[in-house]
Amino acid sequence: MMGLAEDGGLLLPRTIPRLDGATLALWRDKSYPDLAFEVMSRFIDDIPASDLRALVNASYAAFDHTEVTPLVHYGDLHILELFHGPTLAFKDIALQFLGNLFEYFLKKDNGRMNILGATSGDTGSAAIYAVRGKAGINIFILHPHGRVSPVQEKQMTTVLDENVHNIAIRGSFDDGQAIVKGIFGDLDFKNAHHLGAINSINWARVLAQVVYYIWSCLHVQSHESLGAIDFAVPTGNFGDIFAGFIAKRMMPEGMIRRLVLATNANDILARFVRKGDYSLAQVTQTSSPSMDIQSASNFERYLYYLTDSDPKRTKDLMAEFADKGRLELSGYLDQIKRDFVAEAVDEETVKATISGFYQEHKYILDPHTAVGVAAALRQQKPGVAMVCLATAHPAKFAAVVEEAIGKAPDVPPSLAGILERQARCQVMDADAALVKAFIESHDQHP
Ligand SMILES: *Cc1c(COP(=O)(O)O)cnc(C)c1O
Repeated sequence: MMGLAEDGGLLLPRTIPRLDGATLALWRDKSYPDLAFEVMSRFIDDIPASDLRALVNASYAAFDHTEVTPLVHYGDLHILELFHGPTLAFKDIALQFLGNLFEYFLKKDNGRMNILGATSGDTGSAAIYAVRGKAGINIFILHPHGRVSPVQEKQMTTVLDENVHNIAIRGSFDDGQAIVKGIFGDLDFKNAHHLGAINSINWARVLAQVVYYIWSCLHVQSHESLGAIDFAVPTGNFGDIFAGFIAKRMMPEGMIRRLVLATNANDILARFVRKGDYSLAQVTQTSSPSMDIQSASNFERYLYYLTDSDPKRTKDLMAEFADKGRLELSGYLDQIKRDFVAEAVDEETVKATISGFYQEHKYILDPHTAVGVAAALRQQKPGVAMVCLATAHPAKFAAVVEEAIGKAPDVPPSLAGILERQARCQVMDADAALVKAFIESHDQHP
């Protein structure tokens, strides 16, 4: 629950457990929640087993597919559908669990928490759905007024639970984020109001994401009896693919062969994998906005393993990056290439991939997933299974999809009629004092 460690670094488990073939054989027929329980139990020693089981079951009961993350098969590719949660994007998989985990720990010591965050659209709704109606928790999410898509806005503001507070800032996403940073920097206010975050650096989020890599290995292997598996991962903050890196270390040697790191035009991570050049550039807007990121918040975790688990060297490198906006890591290339290959995918290729895949298979990819599929098609190797992570439902990005294939994707029930539903949202000038006053007046728990 602390987010950052006390020295400002990120938290990691002391060791990564190895799974052997016998254990995996026992796990092959487990349901998704049962598998999640087994995997998480390897890392969690402070929650009684029956409680952890209940938390996991509650988290994945909120998904609309019995398999939670079903694998579908098209051509030579396996598509892992991660978008069956309440907000139709893969972040639900980790955030549903995190919301239940927070509630559990808060209940235990009669605690309370006010979650504060800024969103450019997508993460906000996943965070809101993670904690709606939960005891001891309020959530305050800032979004830029009129600058998120109507569906994104309604996904947040139609959640009417009393503990959910949407604030539309008259300003940009950066204004919202600056306000949030400023408020977290006011330690008196932060402590007085028990402010917490629910952001992408939380270790429990990474852990929840490890599960579906292992799930995929078990299920692809029963589909085609292959040895090695590659994963193509649409990447922004490096959280999802870092979970893949952890899974790779847990699985028997060689079972997960390579992680295909797929970026859009924001290619800092692709340059890192290809040349060891980790240097900031301007953020470019693309059709896959959840990947429009330069400074990847989970990258530090990989640096730790890259430096042979050397916290001092990791810290120095992070300080150098903060100072210069770049790191020269080409000395590590051999090691990087044992774990990753990378592709940066441009906008035209994204559209061509959505259109080509639809023509061939009558299956609609969302633009984020299409980035991964385009990278997978370039990196596919004979005799190695390729699993592409499908990170969002295409209906969330209907305009881009329609441009590519000439028709809009079917609207799933959770989005049907959403624009007409009742909504609640507080519009405010981009002023930290106003936001603080609002939090103050709503910081109460019946
Ligand atoms: C967040 C997100 C990503 C990127 O995941 P990271 O963990 O930030 O690398 C990809 N696709 C979608 C739809 C997302 O919401």
